[in-house]
Amino acid sequence: KVADGEEVRRKLHNTIQELKGNIRVFCRVRPPLPEDEKEGAGEPPILQYPTSAELAGRGVELVPAAGPKYPFAFDKVFGPEAPQAEVFQEISMLVQSALDGYKVCIFAYGQTGSGKTHTMLGVPQPAEARGMIPRSLEQIFQASQHLEAQGWTFTMQASMLEIYNESLRDLLVPASAQKDKAADAGGKAHAIKHDAQGNTTVADLTLVEVATWHEVELMMQKAAQSRTVGRTAMNERSSRSHCVFTLRIAGSNETTEQTVNGVLNLIDLAGSERLSRSGATGDRLKETQAINKSLSCLGDVISAIANRDAHVPYRNSKLTYLLQPCLGGDSKTLMFVNIAPDRSSFNESLCSLRFAAKVNSCEIGVPRRQARVKDASGQ
Ligand code: ADP
Ligand code: MG
Repeated sequence: KVADGEEVRRKLHNTIQELKGNIRVFCRVRPPLPEDEKEGAGEPPILQYPTSAELAGRGVELVPAAGPKYPFAFDKVFGPEAPQAEVFQEISMLVQSALDGYKVCIFAYGQTGSGKTHTMLGVPQPAEARGMIPRSLEQIFQASQHLEAQGWTFTMQASMLEIYNESLRDLLVPASAQKDKAADAGGKAHAIKHDAQGNTTVADLTLVEVATWHEVELMMQKAAQSRTVGRTAMNERSSRSHCVFTLRIAGSNETTEQTVNGVLNLIDLAGSERLSRSGATGDRLKETQAINKSLSCLGDVISAIANRDAHVPYRNSKLTYLLQPCLGGDSKTLMFVNIAPDRSSFNESLCSLRFAAKVNSCEIGVPRRQARVKDASGQ
């Protein structure tokens, strides 16, 4: 029997999924803001979405002012109209798996202003604008209540930290009360340790037991206050640091003697913009270099995992070392690549899409894996 086109495509899809392991990349394009619309009035859009059977919903093309388009394909592409609920629907299974004992990381990557915080946190009102963090936690708390009716007991602990210039800071401790500032400046405070079971401890990190979204919300308000060093300073800093929210889930069932140990990490990464655009010098230059280094380390780690490399360079940055037990193995990783739709962001968008394509090897035009699969099907 000769395989028909559909069957070949499905096989190809499955093979790619398998090769990629538990890594998914979703692209999300934010809608134009009023200032983008003014600037870009009358110009053709810089993003297009192919509608072919193969690429609908997962293809995106970056359109330069002149010359050929740059086509990309990801596990999913959300255009500017996609509401938060639609995005969450695509991650809800992944979130649920933390309650089954998996270690899960969800990242938002992109230049400052591309919609990372909107995607992860969103805004509390209207309810539709709530992002992945509140939706995920509500789902977890709700599902855990169902499981508790079946004999399960859960303990959930939340923490929130910031990685800034390769130093960790506990966001649940007010800036004025941060212990050991000197050690913090040297990147030595909050030593990270992993045990053989993949449990991570961070020295002196505040863990808060939580059972409702409201409790987490209060915790996050406290964290936001701890970051307040004057409004502009906060905005500047928040776009230059990685913010890591972690929920540790320990569950046990006395009747069946089962236990689970899941972790859900939700990470709003530092802005990925490069030096030229931020015009950095001095301290700012050092900051930008630290950000670029840790983001490229993250890319190296995820692509090493996707490629099944023997060596995964976790130790090259604080972020990847902190998350080591939650990246690779049977843990699950999802990366949102957030894209701004204005033409002045063209170069940054191209860089972000290329970064994301490197992470999941889906860039059209350099289809390393697709080529291999094609050979196998004899075409
Ligand atoms: P980042 O965290 O990447 O710097 P933000 O999430 O703060 O970017 O987004 C920049 C601006 O765009 C904010 O005003 C935000 O409300 C808005 N925005 C981002 N994504 C969306 C979206 N999908 N729908 C509506 N507004 C959005
Ligand atoms: Mg942000």
